[in-house]
Amino acid sequence: MSKKLPGKIINLALKHFFKKPATISYPNGALELVDNYRGKLTYNPAACFGCGLCVRHCPAGAIKIINVGTKQDRQMKAELNVARCIFCGQCVDSCVKKCLSYSQKIDLSSLNKDDLVVQL
Ligand code: SF4
Ligand code: SF4
Repeated sequence: MSKKLPGKIINLALKHFFKKPATISYPNGALELVDNYRGKLTYNPAACFGCGLCVRHCPAGAIKIINVGTKQDRQMKAELNVARCIFCGQCVDSCVKKCLSYSQKIDLSSLNKDDLVVQL
C-alpha cells in the first residue's frame, strides 16, 4: 500500500463530510420527479366510452374497465392492479379519448396484496 494513501483517504473523507449528501433520505426528503414521470395512473370516467382498447393492449393484464350503469346509460369505472402494472404507458397511448394519464403518485407499496387493486 502506498504511504500517501491514508492521507488521501482522510482528505477525501473530510472533503465529503462538509458536502451536501448526493442521496435523499426517502421518505423523509421530498423526491423531485420530472413532469412526465410515470406514477400511478389516473382515469377520467366522463370521457370513457368503454371501448376496452386499454384493457386489450395492456401487456400485464393490469387494468379493467367496468360498466356499472346500463347499456343505454353507461357509467364507466376503472380498476388497476398496481402489483401487475409495469407502468409501460401502453394504455395511455391506446386511449383515443385521453382518459388515462399518469400522476406523480409513487408511494404505492402495501403489505396487503388486496390493497393493490384500486379504483382509479
Ligand atoms: S401502464 Fe402498462 S401495465 Fe400499467 S395498466 Fe397501462 S398498459 Fe397496463
Ligand atoms: S381506451 Fe379509453 S375510452 Fe377506451 S375503455 Fe380505455 S379508458 Fe375508456
